[in-house]
Amino acid sequence: MGEFELIRRHFQHPLRRSSVALGNGDDCALLAPAPGMQLAVSTDMLVAGRHFLPDVDPEALGHKALAVNLSDLAAMGARPLACTLALALPAADDAWLAAFARGLLGLADAHRCALVGGDTTAGPLNLCLTVFGEVPPGRAARRDAGRVGDDVYVSGTLGDARLALEGLLGHWPVPPRVLARTRARLERPTPRVALGLALQGQIHACADVSDGLLGDLGHILAASRLGAELDVPALLASAAVSDDVRALPPERAWTCVLAGGDDYELVFTAPPDARARVQAAAQAAATPVTRIGRLCPARPGEAAVRLLDAQQRPLEPPAGAQLGGFDHFG
Ligand code: ADP
Ligand code: MG
Repeated sequence: MGEFELIRRHFQHPLRRSSVALGNGDDCALLAPAPGMQLAVSTDMLVAGRHFLPDVDPEALGHKALAVNLSDLAAMGARPLACTLALALPAADDAWLAAFARGLLGLADAHRCALVGGDTTAGPLNLCLTVFGEVPPGRAARRDAGRVGDDVYVSGTLGDARLALEGLLGHWPVPPRVLARTRARLERPTPRVALGLALQGQIHACADVSDGLLGDLGHILAASRLGAELDVPALLASAAVSDDVRALPPERAWTCVLAGGDDYELVFTAPPDARARVQAAAQAAATPVTRIGRLCPARPGEAAVRLLDAQQRPLEPPAGAQLGGFDHFG
């Protein structure tokens, strides 16, 4: 199977939509966002051995490669339009490619995100997706838009993906039933696109939780030049933590919830007078959101995120909690 036959067989995407004037097959695709809209663009690369285990199910990998990119559009409140796929493959394995394409194009269809082009080459397994979305000017939820007094929220649940990863790596004992559920969260994350769209215009700052809550909230705080207070016992007891994560020894629960990566939930801030509108958006998007803290002025020389107990006193993490965010060059 040659390169062009491979592309024709696996990466021809019949999805038609008015915002795609020309899909793949030519030197460029042509996109036509609705008049006046801003184009939101994001790229994510997934490298075997670094971002996924080499023996991962190819269908799940195809899903995840697109999901992590759609999650970035969700974090801006942008509507997906199209994507491109750059792919390096050690070999043209037809069954592997068919499963990978099924995972990727299945999620693309669900979000009406057309695969409009890419590049295919031989080499160590490496996937790079770029997504294009649209958002009305001034409505994107930028990281620098947080304000003092904003509530801080997260969507869905935090820490399931980390629990699965530690179980798969054999670091922690994880019962098979728990591993099956959390592994689906790790390998087939749900990008919160509907929530991002429902919240559009209602919230201030937003980021997706790819590297852990403290790290990704930290990006909002750095960009907004603010600090945050998190009510940790309330967070650990809340609907933002699954029963499986809550049942872990405290240091592991802290690690998963505050620093677990790969959740692809949204962390966002909104003024207190928006509480009812935020919950209405969450209902409309069928994605629960939980209020976990508030933005405050930055305190020079102190950590940007202050972890507090129920009496608003500073709280020390339990011994053994690993709260450093993930940094590829850290
Ligand atoms: P060029 O040499 O102009 O870069 P290529 O020969 O690399 O074009 O690709 C031919 C066509 O197939 C282009 O339209 C390109 O966008 C598309 N394409 C290549 N790889 C992929 C892929 N993995 N998924 C989708 N489209 C692809
Ligand atoms: Mg090319």
